[in-house]
Amino acid sequence: MEGIATVAGIAQRYHRVLERMARAARKAGRDPDQVRLVVVTKGQPLEKIRAVVEAGARDLGENYPEEALPKIQALASNPDLRWHMIGHLQRRKAPIVVDHFFMMHSLDRLRIAQRLERLLTRANRRLPVLLEFNVGGEASKHGWPAWDERLWPQWEGEIAQILEMPHLVVQGVMTVPPWNPDPEASRPYFRRLRALRDWLARRFPQAEWTHLSMGMSHDFEVAIEEGATWVRIGTAILGPR
Ligand SMILES: *Cc1c(COP(=O)(O)O)cnc(C)c1O
Repeated sequence: MEGIATVAGIAQRYHRVLERMARAARKAGRDPDQVRLVVVTKGQPLEKIRAVVEAGARDLGENYPEEALPKIQALASNPDLRWHMIGHLQRRKAPIVVDHFFMMHSLDRLRIAQRLERLLTRANRRLPVLLEFNVGGEASKHGWPAWDERLWPQWEGEIAQILEMPHLVVQGVMTVPPWNPDPEASRPYFRRLRALRDWLARRFPQAEWTHLSMGMSHDFEVAIEEGATWVRIGTAILGPR
């Protein structure tokens, strides 16, 4: 009985989140089809992940490749699932991303890009990636320093090198703003990421800068108002971890 109740609750919350996403998009004059959902399954048991897949989810997000791997293998009979790497990647875990993930939202340094490029060349595949930026200035957050516009030119050379790697397909940018329960507190950080994306698109027109991965359970509607194309949502759908 417990299991059935959990499954029903997850499907309902999943559909409710999709409705809220669509409403936020329309409110901002955007096409709801241009905002996609990654259901963040880190720290969640397999039965809950099965429930959300049953409800229709296809894009699933994980922070730690070694935690994701058994889940990916358990759900491998479903060929439609797309796994998104959304956390800081250690060098030795890079092969798991190359072998099992659809895309990476959290490319946060040149060295990991070089490592991925080498592995991808060997595997003969291309990996869509988003570049992660630290727009809030917290020492605990990953990504290139971007809280002040004057910092942006510092890493331009690194971005240029990444854009030349043939197996990494740069599609946009990602951020995790400082935690604040008030969703409005995230708005300036989302705006900064969008401004940064616009700047990168002018500076490097050879890449596609379509995607803005921003917004989590507590602030995804604000993120959509500010241009998010991917929102990453865990607890609002799957409950506490
Ligand atoms: C955990 C996590 C999320 C989801 O957070 P919720 O508050 O559970 O929605 C989104 N993005 C990243 C990078 C995360 O680590």
